[in-house]
Amino acid sequence: QAKVAGKNCFRFYSRAMDQAVERRVRMEQDLRGAWERGELSLAYQPVYRLADNRLIGAEALLRWQHPEHGSVSPSLFIDVAEQSGLIETIGPQVLRAACIDARRWQRDFASGRDLFVSVNVSPRQLRAADLSAQVDAVLRETGLAPQHLHIELTETAVIGDEARVSALLARLRNTGVKVWLDDFGTGFSGLSHLRRVPVDGVKIDRSFIADVLRDPDDLALTTAIIAMAHSLGIHVVAEGVEKEGQYAILRERGCDMAQGFWLGHPMKAQDFMGLLA
Ligand code: C2E
Ligand code: MG
Ligand code: MG
Ligand code: MG
Repeated sequence: QAKVAGKNCFRFYSRAMDQAVERRVRMEQDLRGAWERGELSLAYQPVYRLADNRLIGAEALLRWQHPEHGSVSPSLFIDVAEQSGLIETIGPQVLRAACIDARRWQRDFASGRDLFVSVNVSPRQLRAADLSAQVDAVLRETGLAPQHLHIELTETAVIGDEARVSALLARLRNTGVKVWLDDFGTGFSGLSHLRRVPVDGVKIDRSFIADVLRDPDDLALTTAIIAMAHSLGIHVVAEGVEKEGQYAILRERGCDMAQGFWLGHPMKAQDFMGLLA
């Protein structure tokens, strides 16, 4: 009996595993050339400065409209792109498109003159040959001033091989762009890392913000991150602000910037320009 069940069990898992692998392989095939076919686009989520409630920038978020399956979650396809290496072609396309769009906001709208654009860069892109040269070339081509480009790296991207990562980040910051640590507080490294890894700011992960009104520990941690960042001379963005109360408390605690559904959902480039008009 047990043997049979075990066997079935094994078969079940192995089939489920095959399916997962198969799905990833298929996704990878579909993702190949998706940019050229116009299936990939950027959405922009507004970022506000808390001191004066002003719109000061936007985060570029990649969207994939699959011809059969409709929109695919970035947390799925970005991972596939990262694992397969496809991110090394898609990443630069994202970077270039975001810079072109930001340049356009600055040129075409009075309220867009000083906006920054924030671009997510994966661990593999950071380690790929010459991200800083790539950034330099794109800034020159598009005419975007370096201080208007923010590069977001997750903590996992900067973990390990500290000397190498510090050198990469230093080169990147030498181009004049700002480097941000994304999803801050979720990794292991957190605070101790900031001593050796040169960044311009941190984005507090939305898991902390989610309960900031109910859970005193989350509020304490958030407040501590803000204080610590400021004492190191770096800025803080809170992500995932979904309620007015969260915005208010972050403002009271001296957080510099915020983004989230309460402030604005990620939107089509066209709609973001509508916001500026
Ligand atoms: P992220 O960089 O931390 O981006 C923030 C995510 O939180 C986005 O999910 C955004 O839509 C979502 N979000 C924003 N405000 C709220 C809120 O108030 N509540 C909730 N629940 N969620 C909110 P999205 O667009 O699904 O992206 C997921 C992740 O995929 C991103 O996390 C980023 O790590 C990655 N990603 C997206 N675009 C790119 C890209 O162009 N390149 C790379 N390498 N990664 C990307
Ligand atoms: Mg991000
Ligand atoms: Mg984040
Ligand atoms: Mg996140």
